Amino acid sequence: MSCRAGCGACCIAPSITSPIPGMAEGKPAGVRCVQLDGSNLCRLFGDPRRPDVCQRFDYDPELCLDNREQALTVLTQWERATR
Ligand code: SF4
Ligand code: SF4
Repeated sequence: MSCRAGCGACCIAPSITSPIPGMAEGKPAGVRCVQLDGSNLCRLFGDPRRPDVCQRFDYDPELCLDNREQALTVLTQWERATR
């Protein structure tokens, strides 16, 4: 299994503390990253400005589950639990 292109749940639900181009303070939980395009793809894919945390986050069947809605739910719960 691998990342679902066009999902983008991990670019919305979790907070990201590293600076992101266009979001100098990082990204609050539940807020869509400004680098997520209209097709829910990262505009910085392959770009060295993409935050390390994004490079390291990989498909995880326990977090990504079977569809975007499930991933948003679980990633939101995970964010609350680790806040
Ligand atoms: S939540 Fe999982 S499947 Fe969805 S974009 Fe992120 S890594 Fe890919
Ligand atoms: S920089 Fe790209 S991978 Fe990282 S949260 Fe934003 S859209 Fe997602």
